[in-house]
Amino acid sequence: MSATGRAFASRHLLGIEGLGADELVLLLDLGERFLELGERPIKKVPTLRGRTVINLFLEASTRTRTSFEIAAKRLSADAVNVSGSGSSTSKGESLLDTARNLVAMRPDVVVLRHQASGAAEFVARHVDAAVVNAGDGTHEHPTQALLDASTIRHHKGSIAGLEIAIVGDIEHSRVARSNLYALTRLGANVRLCAPFTMMPQGIESLAGDHRRQVSTHARLESALEGADVVMMLRIQRERMGDGPARFPTNREYSRHFGLSPRTVAFAKPDAILMHPGPINRGVEMDPTIADGPRSVVLEQVTRGVAIRMAVLYVLGTGGAVPSEFGSA
Ligand code: ASP
Repeated sequence: MSATGRAFASRHLLGIEGLGADELVLLLDLGERFLELGERPIKKVPTLRGRTVINLFLEASTRTRTSFEIAAKRLSADAVNVSGSGSSTSKGESLLDTARNLVAMRPDVVVLRHQASGAAEFVARHVDAAVVNAGDGTHEHPTQALLDASTIRHHKGSIAGLEIAIVGDIEHSRVARSNLYALTRLGANVRLCAPFTMMPQGIESLAGDHRRQVSTHARLESALEGADVVMMLRIQRERMGDGPARFPTNREYSRHFGLSPRTVAFAKPDAILMHPGPINRGVEMDPTIADGPRSVVLEQVTRGVAIRMAVLYVLGTGGAVPSEFGSA
């Protein structure tokens, strides 16, 4: 496999915030090529043979952990999974000690999910391996935003100029933050919609120079009016602690902020409907919407493997981008 000349400059993938549009497009383009590989009968290339990827997941995950594991295996890397309940973190070992001990086994890439915002950056500063952030608290979930952008680009041709509504628990959503960075950098207008109890003040400023592409909405109808893409978010009860309730009941939340046959009619007729999973069916998304013809939820999952292959590839090979794939 030879390199095309385009290269990914960052050593780690800690968030979307530090990436430019060029790097995002490079990963999206590379993901497209790995997606094709997933359709072949033999879904494996030899490019990371002999490399080791440790998936250190210290917070619950189904899709992301499995997706990274499959991605590593399709690249022929050796993938090792460590989860919170079965690891020494449950014996009180600190994140740094766990990470340093794992890195002493000389992996090439560590994929980390952790409940603390900033955990991936912290580990990256202290270990000698490439680190991928697979979700850190309420901060970022970069590969989710990349797979979302990949799905949107596939359906809409281009992301620039699209009206994209992101609806739900914005306050606790790392998915919303990473998408805010990615989608504005790629030229979309992003409408953030939440009850005012779950909308951080001044969140537009995260988009920096792109902040004028961001609007906030307290009413679902105004966020969805003419939208090309609707991305629903889960209510993240596990991050709310014992604080006051953010909304009276699930039923009331669903009536005002849920995507249903009634509310989806505000979006464009060809709007695609997204959710990062796991879905609380009947709360943020009606089952008929989640399973309906405009839902791209499962396509997001399929593209997730391809995007994670792209990320592991560029980090595992020091930034080179392949021009072609051989077979294993
Ligand atoms: N799976 C996504 C995340 O890990 C979204 C969610 O959990 O609601 O952030």
